[in-house]
Amino acid sequence: MLLRGLLSVLFAICGFTIAENTGNGTSQSVKDSPPLLLVSFDGFRADYLKQYSFPNLQKFFADGVLVDDVTNVFTTKTFPNHYSLATGLYAESHGILASHMYDPETKKEFSVANDTDPFWWNEATPIWLSVQNAGFKSAAAMWPGTDIKIQNQTATYFLKYNSHVNFEERLGNLTKWLTEDKSVRIAILYWEEPDRSGHMYGPENTTRMSKALKEVDDNIGLLMDQLNRTGLWDKINVIVTSDHGMVQCSDKKLIDLNTCLNSSVYTVVDLTPVAAIRPLNDYSSVYNKLRKCHPNMKAYLKAEMPERLHYKNNERIQPIILVADEGWTIVLDGKLPRLGDHGYDNSLASMHPFLAAHGPAFRKGYRQQSMNSVDLYPLMCKILGILEMPNNGTFNNVRCMLVNQTCTELAVVVGIVIGVLILLTTLTCLFRLMKVRDMSSSRPFARLELEEDDDDDPLLS
Ligand SMILES: [Zn+2]
Repeated sequence: MLLRGLLSVLFAICGFTIAENTGNGTSQSVKDSPPLLLVSFDGFRADYLKQYSFPNLQKFFADGVLVDDVTNVFTTKTFPNHYSLATGLYAESHGILASHMYDPETKKEFSVANDTDPFWWNEATPIWLSVQNAGFKSAAAMWPGTDIKIQNQTATYFLKYNSHVNFEERLGNLTKWLTEDKSVRIAILYWEEPDRSGHMYGPENTTRMSKALKEVDDNIGLLMDQLNRTGLWDKINVIVTSDHGMVQCSDKKLIDLNTCLNSSVYTVVDLTPVAAIRPLNDYSSVYNKLRKCHPNMKAYLKAEMPERLHYKNNERIQPIILVADEGWTIVLDGKLPRLGDHGYDNSLASMHPFLAAHGPAFRKGYRQQSMNSVDLYPLMCKILGILEMPNNGTFNNVRCMLVNQTCTELAVVVGIVIGVLILLTTLTCLFRLMKVRDMSSSRPFARLELEEDDDDDPLLS
């Protein structure tokens, strides 16, 4: 009984509730919840925050939440990761697996420049559709997928993708939709930098990167000003994050597939740093040659992909996957295509982005070391008060970011557990000691009584 009581107290302290992640216990309905603005600055590597100065971003999270390091999903490319942020699913589950895909059944092809066929997107329900299915509206500016008729619906308000539309115009449209139509509950904004500069100059070009990152920070300042001007700041929940990081590449780190294999025996669906290979006939001969091709490239048969990558269970994953080591580039023509790249193993810190948040739902001045990018989806569903679709995220990993969640630091919980155990041990020892003393003091008295009785008997007789 005592143990059960103790455990329930501890669970209450930790704030654990078993039903928490099933998605049904929404404490706040969509109708009552403030809108949510989700912003992605493409290719914002987590440690840029330590290397460069971001006065506006600093101001943004000083009064909110900062997560230093976000483990994203494999492949660490733009489209797979933006769809994971919006669905809480690994790439193998949402079906947007890479920048270039091929579907063996329909023979359809996908690329980031040819992405409008809903076929590629329909395996998942992104959060903007869940908001619409709950009877509310969404607004989007260039976020991948939002201008496509996924399950027959685009975002309610959206801008067709056009890289020439500047940040102010994207933001201006979103704040206009948010202020003019009160039924907009989610707004979602995408910006191409610092990814573009990272690819062009490489993340180690500090002169170019500091210029690009200053512009990103200026845009964050613009975002806060605009929200203030339109009366939305402090009323709206804002999340600023990214899809992946960036690593320096070099022409000294090239893996040319043509040096290992005749190009007539296979087709390349996607090339670098994760290549998707379709052998034309003899799978095992192609695999064996690729396996020995280069010490800085791993070759996997689809069925043998490591479980941790969650990159196996989808028809669109090709029979052989090649994964280059950090900073290495797979090529077919011997030339380095980009000075910076991403897409590598998602366990690499250089591939990770950060996350910051501000608004009435979030704690103020709260800092968390890490989370998974798929955890963002259940967090957003909780904030918006909508039902979660099945997903790979864990709300408990991010619950402490929210102001309305009971949350005690792990160190405090461990301290309380140790304190309670010491107290219980002390009480047990004291109890035993008193019992022993009690017994030892009662025995002579009993014996005395007996002896007196014994003594009395002869007198009576
Ligand atoms: Zn990207």
